[in-house]
Amino acid sequence: PAQLVLVSTPIGNLGDVTSRAISALRLADIVLCEDSRVTQRLLFALGLKARLESFHDHNEESRTPRLLEAMRRGQKYALVSDAGTPLMSDPGFRLVRAAVAEGFGVTALPGPNAAVTALTLSGLPPHPYLFLGFPPPRGGARRTAFAALRAAEAAGLSASMIWYESPHRVAEMLADLQTVFGDRPAALARELTKHFEQVRRGPLSALIAGVEADPPRGEICVVLGPHDPEAEGQPAFDLDARLRDELTRT
Ligand code: SAM
Repeated sequence: PAQLVLVSTPIGNLGDVTSRAISALRLADIVLCEDSRVTQRLLFALGLKARLESFHDHNEESRTPRLLEAMRRGQKYALVSDAGTPLMSDPGFRLVRAAVAEGFGVTALPGPNAAVTALTLSGLPPHPYLFLGFPPPRGGARRTAFAALRAAEAAGLSASMIWYESPHRVAEMLADLQTVFGDRPAALARELTKHFEQVRRGPLSALIAGVEADPPRGEICVVLGPHDPEAEGQPAFDLDARLRDELTRT
Protein backbone atom coordinates (compact mmCIF):
# COMPACT_ATOMS: atom_id res chain seq x y z
CA PRO A 1 0.00 0.00 0.00
CA ALA A 2 1.15 3.48 -0.85
CA GLN A 3 2.54 5.67 1.87
CA LEU A 4 1.77 8.83 -0.02
CA VAL A 5 -1.52 9.18 -1.85
CA LEU A 6 -2.15 12.23 -4.02
CA VAL A 7 -5.87 12.88 -3.77
CA SER A 8 -7.66 15.07 -6.30
CA THR A 9 -10.61 17.01 -4.90
CA PRO A 10 -13.42 19.00 -6.59
CA ILE A 11 -12.78 22.32 -8.34
CA GLY A 12 -16.10 23.78 -7.29
CA ASN A 13 -18.68 21.02 -7.32
CA LEU A 14 -18.75 18.58 -4.43
CA GLY A 15 -20.41 16.01 -6.69
CA ASP A 16 -17.08 15.54 -8.46
CA VAL A 17 -15.37 13.93 -5.48
CA THR A 18 -14.55 10.31 -6.28
CA SER A 19 -15.30 7.37 -4.02
CA ARG A 20 -11.60 6.52 -3.99
CA ALA A 21 -10.85 10.04 -2.79
CA ILE A 22 -13.32 9.58 0.07
CA SER A 23 -11.74 6.25 1.08
CA ALA A 24 -8.24 7.69 0.91
CA LEU A 25 -9.20 10.63 3.10
CA ARG A 26 -10.78 8.24 5.57
CA LEU A 27 -7.81 5.87 5.67
CA ALA A 28 -4.89 8.30 5.77
CA ASP A 29 -3.14 8.75 9.12
CA ILE A 30 -2.64 12.37 8.23
CA VAL A 31 -4.04 14.57 5.47
CA LEU A 32 -1.57 17.17 4.26
CA CYS A 33 -3.43 20.24 3.06
CA GLU A 34 -2.89 23.84 1.98
CA ASP A 35 -5.56 25.84 3.81
CA SER A 36 -6.93 23.75 6.65
CA ARG A 37 -10.23 25.69 6.62
CA VAL A 38 -10.81 24.74 2.99
CA THR A 39 -10.03 21.06 3.57
CA GLN A 40 -12.01 21.05 6.82
CA ARG A 41 -15.03 22.27 4.89
CA LEU A 42 -14.63 19.46 2.35
CA LEU A 43 -14.26 16.82 5.08
CA PHE A 44 -17.29 18.18 6.89
CA ALA A 45 -19.38 18.07 3.71
CA LEU A 46 -18.33 14.44 3.21
CA GLY A 47 -19.03 13.53 6.83
CA LEU A 48 -15.37 12.68 7.44
CA LYS A 49 -12.91 13.50 10.17
CA ALA A 50 -9.18 13.49 9.60
CA ARG A 51 -6.02 14.76 11.19
CA LEU A 52 -4.81 17.67 9.10
CA GLU A 53 -1.32 19.08 8.78
CA SER A 54 -0.46 22.17 6.83
CA PHE A 55 1.60 21.73 3.70
CA HIS A 56 1.93 24.66 1.36
CA ASP A 57 4.37 26.45 -0.92
CA HIS A 58 6.01 28.22 1.99
CA ASN A 59 6.71 25.18 4.13
CA GLU A 60 7.03 22.35 1.59
CA GLU A 61 10.82 22.56 1.54
CA SER A 62 11.24 22.62 5.31
CA ARG A 63 8.56 20.00 6.04
CA THR A 64 9.65 17.40 3.50
CA PRO A 65 12.52 15.85 5.54
CA ARG A 66 10.24 15.36 8.55
CA LEU A 67 7.53 13.80 6.45
CA LEU A 68 10.03 11.37 4.93
CA GLU A 69 11.22 10.48 8.42
CA ALA A 70 7.64 9.74 9.48
CA MET A 71 7.10 7.63 6.33
CA ARG A 72 10.16 5.59 7.29
CA ARG A 73 8.33 4.80 10.52
CA GLY A 74 5.29 3.70 8.51
CA GLN A 75 3.15 6.83 8.57
CA LYS A 76 0.67 7.10 5.69
CA TYR A 77 -0.14 10.47 4.19
CA ALA A 78 -2.79 11.74 1.84
CA LEU A 79 -1.97 14.99 0.06
CA VAL A 80 -4.72 17.33 -1.09
CA SER A 81 -4.67 20.90 -2.31
CA ASP A 82 -7.42 23.49 -1.92
CA ALA A 83 -8.96 22.32 -5.18
CA GLY A 84 -8.30 19.95 -8.04
CA THR A 85 -5.23 17.83 -8.60
CA PRO A 86 -2.29 18.27 -6.20
CA LEU A 87 0.98 19.47 -7.79
CA MET A 88 -0.84 21.11 -10.70
CA SER A 89 0.05 24.73 -9.84
CA ASP A 90 -0.16 23.51 -6.26
CA PRO A 91 2.33 22.14 -3.70
CA GLY A 92 3.63 18.58 -3.68
CA PHE A 93 6.23 18.16 -6.39
CA ARG A 94 9.24 18.27 -4.07
CA LEU A 95 7.63 15.83 -1.66
CA VAL A 96 6.78 13.39 -4.45
CA ARG A 97 10.28 13.62 -5.90
CA ALA A 98 11.83 12.94 -2.49
CA ALA A 99 9.41 10.09 -1.66
CA VAL A 100 10.05 8.44 -5.02
CA ALA A 101 13.82 8.81 -4.57
CA GLU A 102 13.57 7.02 -1.21
CA GLY A 103 11.55 4.19 -2.73
CA PHE A 104 8.28 4.85 -0.90
CA GLY A 105 5.05 3.77 -2.54
CA VAL A 106 3.36 6.79 -4.07
CA THR A 107 0.05 6.71 -5.88
CA ALA A 108 -2.35 9.27 -7.32
CA LEU A 109 -6.12 9.20 -7.37
CA PRO A 110 -7.17 11.01 -10.53
CA GLY A 111 -9.96 13.54 -10.43
CA PRO A 112 -10.90 17.11 -11.24
CA ASN A 113 -8.38 19.40 -12.91
CA ALA A 114 -9.33 22.85 -14.17
CA ALA A 115 -6.80 22.92 -17.01
CA VAL A 116 -7.91 19.70 -18.68
CA THR A 117 -11.58 20.56 -18.17
CA ALA A 118 -11.02 23.94 -19.85
CA LEU A 119 -9.09 22.35 -22.70
CA THR A 120 -11.84 19.83 -23.44
CA LEU A 121 -14.47 22.59 -23.50
CA SER A 122 -12.39 25.08 -25.47
CA GLY A 123 -13.20 23.76 -28.92
CA LEU A 124 -9.46 23.93 -29.61
CA PRO A 125 -7.28 20.94 -30.55
CA PRO A 126 -6.71 18.94 -27.35
CA HIS A 127 -3.25 17.73 -28.21
CA PRO A 128 -0.49 18.35 -28.20
CA TYR A 129 -1.05 20.79 -25.38
CA LEU A 130 1.16 22.69 -22.99
CA PHE A 131 0.03 23.34 -19.46
CA LEU A 132 1.78 26.50 -18.32
CA GLY A 133 0.33 27.20 -14.88
CA PHE A 134 0.06 30.89 -13.94
CA PRO A 135 1.87 33.32 -16.27
CA PRO A 136 4.27 35.75 -14.57
CA PRO A 137 2.16 38.45 -12.91
CA ARG A 138 4.22 41.38 -14.21
CA GLY A 139 3.84 42.54 -17.78
CA GLY A 140 7.50 42.48 -18.81
CA ALA A 141 8.18 38.99 -17.50
CA ARG A 142 4.88 37.78 -18.91
CA ARG A 143 5.63 39.04 -22.42
CA THR A 144 9.09 37.53 -22.20
CA ALA A 145 7.58 34.17 -21.26
CA PHE A 146 5.12 34.42 -24.16
CA ALA A 147 7.87 35.45 -26.56
CA ALA A 148 9.85 32.34 -25.60
CA LEU A 149 6.82 30.21 -26.52
CA ARG A 150 6.42 32.12 -29.76
CA ALA A 151 10.09 31.41 -30.50
CA ALA A 152 9.44 27.71 -29.87
CA GLU A 153 6.59 27.94 -32.40
CA ALA A 154 8.92 29.54 -34.90
CA ALA A 155 11.12 26.47 -34.37
CA GLY A 156 8.18 24.14 -35.08
CA LEU A 157 6.08 23.80 -31.91
CA SER A 158 2.36 23.63 -32.62
CA ALA A 159 0.34 23.05 -29.46
CA SER A 160 -2.67 24.42 -27.62
CA MET A 161 -1.56 26.25 -24.48
CA ILE A 162 -3.35 26.49 -21.15
CA TRP A 163 -2.82 28.99 -18.33
CA TYR A 164 -4.45 29.78 -15.03
CA GLU A 165 -5.06 33.49 -14.49
CA SER A 166 -6.63 35.74 -11.91
CA PRO A 167 -9.68 37.74 -13.05
CA HIS A 168 -7.86 40.97 -12.19
CA ARG A 169 -5.07 40.28 -14.66
CA VAL A 170 -6.92 38.51 -17.44
CA ALA A 171 -7.43 41.66 -19.55
CA GLU A 172 -3.69 42.49 -19.53
CA MET A 173 -2.81 38.88 -20.15
CA LEU A 174 -5.07 38.59 -23.20
CA ALA A 175 -3.65 41.84 -24.57
CA ASP A 176 -0.13 40.44 -24.21
CA LEU A 177 -1.17 37.19 -25.88
CA GLN A 178 -2.46 39.16 -28.84
CA THR A 179 0.71 41.25 -29.01
CA VAL A 180 2.93 38.18 -29.08
CA PHE A 181 0.82 35.56 -30.87
CA GLY A 182 -1.47 37.65 -33.06
CA ASP A 183 -5.24 37.37 -33.26
CA ARG A 184 -5.54 33.66 -32.76
CA PRO A 185 -8.49 31.45 -31.68
CA ALA A 186 -8.66 31.14 -27.91
CA ALA A 187 -11.04 30.38 -25.06
CA LEU A 188 -11.73 31.71 -21.60
CA ALA A 189 -13.26 29.17 -19.21
CA ARG A 190 -14.54 30.40 -15.87
CA GLU A 191 -16.18 28.90 -12.82
CA LEU A 192 -15.98 25.40 -14.28
CA THR A 193 -18.27 22.84 -12.64
CA LYS A 194 -19.99 25.67 -10.71
CA HIS A 195 -23.32 27.41 -11.07
CA PHE A 196 -21.90 30.24 -13.21
CA GLU A 197 -19.77 28.07 -15.49
CA GLN A 198 -19.11 29.90 -18.73
CA VAL A 199 -16.82 29.35 -21.70
CA ARG A 200 -16.14 32.24 -24.08
CA ARG A 201 -14.59 31.24 -27.39
CA GLY A 202 -13.32 33.30 -30.27
CA PRO A 203 -10.33 35.11 -31.67
CA LEU A 204 -8.33 36.96 -29.00
CA SER A 205 -9.65 40.31 -30.28
CA ALA A 206 -13.24 39.23 -29.57
CA LEU A 207 -12.34 37.83 -26.14
CA ILE A 208 -10.57 41.09 -25.29
CA ALA A 209 -13.63 43.12 -26.34
CA GLY A 210 -15.84 40.79 -24.29
CA VAL A 211 -13.67 41.12 -21.20
CA GLU A 212 -13.79 44.88 -21.52
CA ALA A 213 -17.58 44.92 -21.86
CA ASP A 214 -18.21 42.28 -19.20
CA PRO A 215 -15.21 41.62 -16.93
CA PRO A 216 -15.22 37.94 -15.94
CA ARG A 217 -15.27 37.13 -12.24
CA GLY A 218 -14.28 34.00 -10.39
CA GLU A 219 -11.74 31.38 -11.38
CA ILE A 220 -10.43 31.45 -14.91
CA CYS A 221 -8.44 29.32 -17.34
CA VAL A 222 -7.15 30.70 -20.62
CA VAL A 223 -6.62 28.39 -23.61
CA LEU A 224 -4.77 29.54 -26.72
CA GLY A 225 -5.06 27.69 -30.01
CA PRO A 226 -1.97 26.27 -31.70
CA HIS A 227 0.24 28.06 -34.14
CA ASP A 228 -1.05 27.60 -37.65
CA PRO A 229 1.73 28.32 -40.12
CA GLU A 230 -0.91 28.74 -42.88
CA ALA A 231 -3.00 31.31 -41.02
CA GLU A 232 -2.87 34.93 -42.01
CA GLY A 233 -2.55 37.84 -39.65
CA GLN A 234 -0.08 36.23 -37.30
CA PRO A 235 2.86 38.38 -36.39
CA ALA A 236 6.00 37.20 -38.08
CA PHE A 237 8.52 36.01 -35.56
CA ASP A 238 10.39 39.26 -35.94
CA LEU A 239 8.81 40.59 -32.74
CA ASP A 240 8.97 44.28 -32.04
CA ALA A 241 12.04 45.79 -30.49
CA ARG A 242 10.64 45.89 -26.97
CA LEU A 243 10.04 42.15 -26.88
CA ARG A 244 13.40 41.36 -28.37
CA ASP A 245 14.93 43.60 -25.81
CA GLU A 246 13.11 41.83 -22.99
CA LEU A 247 14.21 38.46 -24.31
CA THR A 248 17.86 39.39 -24.38
CA ARG A 249 17.69 40.77 -20.86
CA THR A 250 16.67 37.42 -19.34
N1 SAM B 1 -4.74 22.14 -8.69
C1 SAM B 1 -5.82 22.84 -9.35
C2 SAM B 1 -6.32 22.01 -10.53
O1 SAM B 1 -5.97 20.84 -10.63
O2 SAM B 1 -7.10 22.52 -11.33
C3 SAM B 1 -5.43 24.26 -9.76
C4 SAM B 1 -4.91 25.09 -8.61
S1 SAM B 1 -4.46 26.73 -9.04
C5 SAM B 1 -3.74 27.28 -7.54
C6 SAM B 1 -5.96 27.60 -9.04
C7 SAM B 1 -6.32 28.15 -10.42
O3 SAM B 1 -6.91 27.13 -11.20
C8 SAM B 1 -7.36 29.26 -10.39
O4 SAM B 1 -6.74 30.52 -10.16
C9 SAM B 1 -7.95 29.17 -11.77
O5 SAM B 1 -7.09 29.79 -12.72
C10 SAM B 1 -7.93 27.67 -12.00
N2 SAM B 1 -9.21 27.09 -11.55
C11 SAM B 1 -9.44 26.40 -10.42
N3 SAM B 1 -10.74 26.03 -10.34
C12 SAM B 1 -11.33 26.53 -11.45
C13 SAM B 1 -12.67 26.50 -11.96
N4 SAM B 1 -13.65 25.92 -11.27
N5 SAM B 1 -12.92 27.10 -13.15
C14 SAM B 1 -11.93 27.70 -13.85
N6 SAM B 1 -10.65 27.75 -13.42
C15 SAM B 1 -10.36 27.19 -12.25
